[in-house]
Formats: sequence, C-alpha cells, structure tokens
Amino acid sequence: MNKDYLIRGTAHHNNFRIFAVQSTNCVQTVRDLHDLSPLATLLLGRMISAAAMLSWDLKDEGSEVTMRIDCEGDIKGAIVICTQDGRLRGYTKKPQLFYNNREDNFKVGKAIGKGTLTISRDLKGIRSYLSTTELISGEIAEDLAYYFQQSEQIPTAVNLGVLIDKTAKVRAAGGFIIQQLPFADEKTADIINENLNLTPNLSDLMDMGLSIPDVLSRFVFKGIQWQINEEKDIAYHCNCSSELFSKALLLLGKEELQTMKEGIKPVCLYCNKVYDFTAEDIQQLIKQLQE
Ligand SMILES: [Zn+2]
Repeated sequence: MNKDYLIRGTAHHNNFRIFAVQSTNCVQTVRDLHDLSPLATLLLGRMISAAAMLSWDLKDEGSEVTMRIDCEGDIKGAIVICTQDGRLRGYTKKPQLFYNNREDNFKVGKAIGKGTLTISRDLKGIRSYLSTTELISGEIAEDLAYYFQQSEQIPTAVNLGVLIDKTAKVRAAGGFIIQQLPFADEKTADIINENLNLTPNLSDLMDMGLSIPDVLSRFVFKGIQWQINEEKDIAYHCNCSSELFSKALLLLGKEELQTMKEGIKPVCLYCNKVYDFTAEDIQQLIKQLQE
C-alpha cells in the first residue's frame, strides 16, 4: 500500500491554509498493536490524522505535539503524540471497548460523552504550549474545529475519516484541515463552505481510489486555485527502549524499587512491547541510586 504522508498547502492567493494527511497504514498499525475494537480504531484513527496535521506547527527538532482526550464516557480517554519528524504513537484507555448493540460500535461521540480536548507541545520534556477546550460532540473533527475557534480564534474546517471492514482491516484513513486567514475573501470562504457540504464521506472517496489531493481538487476546492507547498512522510513508530524504562524506574526511588525486588515486566502503553527487568536488574538500579 502507498506510504502515509502529510501535505501542507494554500488556496486562493494564500487566503487559506491547508493541511491534509493520508494515515491508513498508521491506523492499521495502531489497530494491530493494541488489537483495537472498531470503536477504539475509529477514535485513535481520527486522532492520529489530527495529531499528524498539528505537527506541522512544530519547529524544533525533537519536539512533539500531544493530543489528549479526557472523558466521562466508556472509552475513558486517549492520547496520540506526533513528533516533529512525523512519527506517531498513541493509545486509548479502553482498547477493546465493545457494545452488544452493533450500531453503538461506530458512535465515537457516544463512547466519549462529556470531556475535554487538550493539545500541548513539548521539547525534550519541557512544555512550551498547553490549551484545553470542552468537547462539543466527541466526534473529534468538530471538537478540533471548536478548539481552533476558541483557543486560536481561527475559523477552521476539520474533516477526519476512518473506514474499517468486518475483518478489522483499515480500508482508508485520512483527513484535512482548512483555515481561513484574517482578511480572507469572504466570497471564496462561502464557496469552500458550500463545497464542503457537498463533499461525500472522505474515507469512502479514498476507498474508491481517490487520493487526498484528488478529493481537495475535485470537491473541496472545486473552482478555486490551490497548491501543495510541502509534503512529508509519516509513520507509526514508538520510541520506547529499556534505557527509557530504566530512567523511569530510577525516578520511582529506592523504596519503591525495593517492592519490585523479584523483578518486573513493564509494558509500553504505546506499542505493547514487554520489557523484562530481572531481580538482578532491579538490584543494579538500586545500587545506582546509592552511588
Ligand atoms: Zn513502545
């Protein structure tokens, strides 16, 4: 299958900013790593597309953007992180959430309920930006549009699509964000809004073989000049390592480590990899703290 990618562009003489993403492979990877239910796949799939597009604003090498949902609904919450170089990782608190009523397994907003959306940017553990807004529908695209309106005062259209079949295969995933810049031509904004209303379901179009740029040209920017200014690859990639887990264990302190004397097997939340710290390893860590 084609590689996943991000594009950034502009429309109508720089009056509009465009971010778009194809994320089918990333979403399939997160589905398989966590054995996600359809509901959890839809949620994390939409968040992966969104976080990837949000990563364009990262300037420094090594920086990350985190998109976080905290909610009262059955799925409890989810996190997706994207690095400046387009590496994505994420998890949800209830990866196997499943309802007996078949229809409910596709209603992300219902499984989320009331909650908040938080977006933060970090560089080597130092937070440079944090903003939280209430969720308005729990369907993620609308919540992100509301977020841009509230926290950055930018009129924004967000479209996120994920299509999965009965065998848990991700047939298509992607999205786009269109932002209206100050002094943008209102007439063009109206045409884009009308076009958006007439655009069929994004993941269905992708499943029919249309690329994201095809969808933008044929539907969203029909009759409007637009261009791609930049493109880059994205991929699902977890950065965990036994060094990172050792550091985290050292932070717990000596007393806490004493309770793990028999050894422990921590599991990475983002990729489900199991690490094995034997009794001897724990002794070594305790020794390091004493030095
Ligand atoms: Zn990992």
